[in-house]
Amino acid sequence: MDFKRAQLSTAKSFRESIVPRLCDYVRIPNKSPLFDANWQKNGHMDRAAQLMADWCREQSIQGLKVEILRAEGRTPLLFCEIPGSGEDTALLYGHMDKQPEFTGWAPGLSPWEPVLRDGKLYGRGGADDGYAVFSSLTAIRLLQEQGIPHARCVVLIEACEESGSYDLPHYVDQLAGRIGTPSLVVCLDAECGNFDQLWCTTSLRGNLVGTLTIEGLTEGVHSGAGTGIAPSVFRIARTLLARVENDVTGDLMLEELHAPIPAARVAQARAAATVLGDQIAGKLPFVAGARPLSDAPVELVLNNTWRPTLAITGAAGLPALENAGNVLLPKLDLKLSFRLPPTTDAATAATAVKQRLEADPPYGVSIEFDVDSSLAGWDAPPVAPWLEQAMQDASRATFGRDAMYLGTGGSIPFIGMLGERFPETQFLVTGVLGPHSNAHGPNEFLHLACAERLTVCVARVIEAHFARGAT
Ligand SMILES: [Zn+2]
Repeated sequence: MDFKRAQLSTAKSFRESIVPRLCDYVRIPNKSPLFDANWQKNGHMDRAAQLMADWCREQSIQGLKVEILRAEGRTPLLFCEIPGSGEDTALLYGHMDKQPEFTGWAPGLSPWEPVLRDGKLYGRGGADDGYAVFSSLTAIRLLQEQGIPHARCVVLIEACEESGSYDLPHYVDQLAGRIGTPSLVVCLDAECGNFDQLWCTTSLRGNLVGTLTIEGLTEGVHSGAGTGIAPSVFRIARTLLARVENDVTGDLMLEELHAPIPAARVAQARAAATVLGDQIAGKLPFVAGARPLSDAPVELVLNNTWRPTLAITGAAGLPALENAGNVLLPKLDLKLSFRLPPTTDAATAATAVKQRLEADPPYGVSIEFDVDSSLAGWDAPPVAPWLEQAMQDASRATFGRDAMYLGTGGSIPFIGMLGERFPETQFLVTGVLGPHSNAHGPNEFLHLACAERLTVCVARVIEAHFARGAT
C-alpha cells in the first residue's frame, strides 16, 4: 500500500464527508436503550442507523451491500457486506448507540451539539463509537482505490453495546451464514494509550453489575428516636462492602474474582508503562492534591487491566441534600459495578459476591444482591506474525512510532462472544479513546488526526490479512 496516497485520501474523506456527517450524528441523542426507555418511540436510534446507512451507500466500494436489520422489540443493526478475493472473511465491528449526557461539560461544549476545536470533534458518541463505521468502510475503499486485493469483509454496527449488547447474539445467529468464520476481527471501540501510535488491545476486563438492597425498617423514623436502637442501613452497607473490598487499599477480597496474570501480559504492561509513564495516571482528571493508587505506573496498568475492582455507581434511598432531614433511613440501594480480570469466570464471580454479601445479615436486616448482568472479559490469542508485522509497518508509516500492546480496563461484550465462537481468529482491537477523550463522561472528543491514521492502519492490516494466504 502506498501510505502517503492512503493518508491524503483519508484526510480528504474526513474533511469533506466524514466529519460533516459525524457532526449530524452527534446531534442525534440516540442513547442506548438502558438509558432511554422510550428509545423506540423517540426514533433517535433509527435516525442514527439511517444516517450511517445513507453514508455507507454513497461510498464507491465494489459490490457493497448495506442493510439495516430490524427485529420486533430489538435495536436495529447495520450490516454491510463487501465481496472480496479468496475464501476468507474479515469482520469489522463498531456501535452506534451512545452513553447518556452526564454532567460537567465545559462552557461552549455539549453532548448533542458538535464543536470542532483544535483538531478534535467534541460531542457524545463521536469517538465512542460513531467514527467506527466511517473508518471501517474508508479503510476498505483505500485498498480498492489502489487496486489492492482484500478478503470478503463484513461490517457489523450494533445499537445496544452500551447496554451490554443483549440484542447482538440474536443478529449474529441470524447472520451466521453470511458472517461465516472470520479469520480477522477488527474492533474500533477500544482505548489507546496515547494519540501518537497504534495501540493493540490484548485483553478486556469482565463486568459484574448488581444492586445491593438493605432494608432495616418499614419506614423512616426520627433519627433522635431511632438511632442507638435500630442500626443505620448506611453502616450496614459499609460492613457488607468491607466483606468484599479492603476499604483502605481497594483490593477485592474474594478469591473467585481474581485470576493469575500471564507472564507475557506483565511484560507488555511493563513496556506500556515505560512508554506512558505519568500519562497513565495523568489521563484522569484528579483534583489538586489527589494522587493515584500507586506511584508505580506498571502497577496502575495491572490494576486497571488484570485486577478486579469495585465502583459504587449509584444509590437510591439517600435523600438529596436539600431534603435531608434528621431521619434514620429505612432502606438503601446501591449499584455495584465490579470489573473482573480477563480470564475470571463471570458467573462464578457473581455467585461468590452474592453469597458473601447476603450471608449472616447484621442484626437480621433484609439484604439482597440482585445481579443485573455478568459479562466475561477476554484475553487475546497470541498475535500471528503477519498481524504483528502489519501493525508495526502501519504504525511506523502513519504515526512514525512503533505499535504497542495494552490491556484495557473496560469491557466489550461482543469481543468476548467472538473469542469464544472463533478461537482461531486474529483480533485487531483498537480505538481512539485516549487521554481525556472521556467517553461516558463530559467533553467526549474524537481526535481527528488519530482517527485518520488509525483508518490507514486498518487498511494495511486488511491488506496483510489477505496477502498472508497468498504467500
Ligand atoms: Zn463503545
